[in-house]
Parts: sequence; structure tokens; C-alpha cells
Amino acid sequence: MRALCWEGVDRLAVRQVPDPELRNAHDMIVRVRRSATCGADLPLLAGRVPGLAAGDVLGHEFLGEVAEIGPAVRRHRVGDRVVVCAAVACGNCWYCRQGLYSCCDNGATTGTVTEAAWGQPTGGCYGHPRRTGGFAGSHAEYVRVPYADVGAFAVPDPVSDDRAVFASDAAPAGWMGAELGAVRPGDVVAVWGAGAVGQLTAQAATALGADRVIVIDRYPERLRMAERHAGAETLHYEHTDVPAELRERSGGRGPDVCVEAVGVADGGGRPVSLADRFTGRGGPAEDPLAVREAVHACRKGGTVFVSGTFTGFVDAFPLGAVMHKGLTLRSARQHGQRWIPMLLDRMARDELRTEHLATHRFDLDQGPTGYALFRDRADGCVRSVFTPHG
Ligand SMILES: [Zn+2]
Ligand SMILES: [Zn+2]
Repeated sequence: MRALCWEGVDRLAVRQVPDPELRNAHDMIVRVRRSATCGADLPLLAGRVPGLAAGDVLGHEFLGEVAEIGPAVRRHRVGDRVVVCAAVACGNCWYCRQGLYSCCDNGATTGTVTEAAWGQPTGGCYGHPRRTGGFAGSHAEYVRVPYADVGAFAVPDPVSDDRAVFASDAAPAGWMGAELGAVRPGDVVAVWGAGAVGQLTAQAATALGADRVIVIDRYPERLRMAERHAGAETLHYEHTDVPAELRERSGGRGPDVCVEAVGVADGGGRPVSLADRFTGRGGPAEDPLAVREAVHACRKGGTVFVSGTFTGFVDAFPLGAVMHKGLTLRSARQHGQRWIPMLLDRMARDELRTEHLATHRFDLDQGPTGYALFRDRADGCVRSVFTPHG
């Protein structure tokens, strides 16, 4: 089959790779209909994540048809249209039973690097082949889906592919930012980043009763989308004193909840050495500008939720402000299995619309072009979506 493979720093190519096969009774094979780019792919593309090797298949946000099922799969049949959670989780371990699916003990089969750097290995994810599980990505014609009854969800008929594909990753990540950020009715919520996750965090915050939602970015077309589709107020950070403006719009206190949905995709620099970058022992660390601003702007006693993808260590983190302002700081990779059924229901009732995020569509063969547009935010690109079967 054809697949979009990482070939080296900033180099991608479409290659012929072996078809995936069922490896155990709970697996299924999905024929991909949509596979979206995600900001979390950009550190991989830039070579900032150790363990990625030339030939690895990228991509973790996808939707498709069930092509083949293992004998122990109960909830799916060949031909069903399913969206698959980007996080691979077993559904059975202690963490999964707490709803902390992306922390699954069995989701990653290859956690050595993460265990050394973070104290524990984390759960699996498609398209991060060696670091988080050995699972090939979804920018391919077919994907092997382990724990299929846990991670794949039937898509209700009225929900289009272009809407449902974002239930795989961006929508649960957005919902999580608002819910674990502890948004309550009447809150003022600020969201850094008007990409797909930021826009969906804004929609979720409104659904949870926020009084005002303010989205911060520097790309006018993304800010317009946040206004139109998420009903958010917006700030262009190059033209505004963001903390002052946020105080002004929140009774002088600062937002109750601040969600960072940027990460370090924008100019994170190049590694001196991958391992040193990851462990913080040398080379430039990641620069969490938006997290610093969120901590600075947040009201005393408020919550800062970090959604952006960081890989290792950061410099100059304002821990003093976290302590003296009594902030709650939370973060996670999305625990999608917890929210995807609810999100699909909302999509079916037309309460959650996401198809506008699919700004650019490509055949898989145009994958390198799709990634370049997405990485550079060129031509108004919010997400490139690949259709491997045309
Ligand atoms: Zn993602
Ligand atoms: Zn588990």
C-alpha cells in the first residue's frame, strides 16, 4: 500500500510499504477515508522527537471503513464507518479504568525513551512509531487498529466524513482542555491558539457555560473562524497587550481558565542532538511563550491547561507565579475514548460542527505539499486532510 513516510528533518515522501496485518484477536484493519494533519506531527516532522526513523508512517487523526476484524472484536463489522481515537489504549488497565486513556500502561509497547525522560512510559499513539507504541500512522491506505472495541467508534449516518474525522483527536483534545481546565458557568476563558484544537476548546468552553471566550492568535483567517464558528471574541497578539486586554475583559481579575493550544510548532528551532534535546542536557530547550503568557494572565486561583505538544524540557517557566497566584496547572494528551461517543452525538445533532477545519484536501500522493502548507500556515491552511482512496 502507499503511505506518507518521514524521511528525515523536514522531508516526507510517499512510499510503498507492506500492508498492515491482524496481529492479535482484538485488532482490526481500517481502510482510511480521511486522515488529518495535527500540530503534534510538527515536532516529529522537524526531527525534535527521538526514536523516529526514516520510513516511519506519520498521522494519527483518521476515519475509515472496517476492512478486516480479529476474532475477538465484538463492536464492529466489516464495512462499518468508524472514527478511531488517536490515542491507543487497552481499556482494561488501572489508568484506562480511571478514564486516563492516553496514560494507558499497555498502549505503548516501546516506552523506554519516555520512561527514562518522564519517569513512566505513556500510552500509545498512531504515527509515533517507536516512542509511543510501535503503531504505524494513518497517512496510509490502511491502518492496523489494536484494541478495536476500545478505540474505534461507529459514526452516526448523518455525520459527514469531514466532520467526524475531527472526533478522532482535535475535538476530544478541545473538549478536554475545557473540561479538565474546569470551565464553569459564567467563567471567562482565554484560549491561546486558533488552530483546530484552540477553536474546539472555545466551542467546548461555550458548551460548558462560559460567559466569555477569548481566542488569541496572529493569523487573521484563523481568528475569523474562531469568531464565526466558535462564537469567540478574538485578540491579535501582535497588535494587542494581551494580558492587559484580558484583565479588561474579565472584571480586572484575569481569565478564570487559560488554555494553551499552541505548543512549540511555530519556530521551535532545530535540535543539536535529538537525545540531548529530549532530556534537556544540551541544545536549546523548547520555548513555551504561550504557556508563560497564560500563567501571567490567569486570575489568582485560576486554572491553566496545557494542550500544546511539548516533547521534553522548557526554559524559564514561571513556577513562582504558579505558586504565588495559587494556580492549578493541568495538562494531558487527549483521553479521547472518554468523550468521542458524546462528541459524535453532538455532531449528529448539529451542535458541534468541525468540517470548516478541513481547509485543504489532498490525495495521499500530495502529502508532502499538504504538510508544507500546514506547517507554514500558508494559504489559510488550518488542517490538511488526505483522502488515500480518492
Ligand atoms: Zn493530534
Ligand atoms: Zn490501558
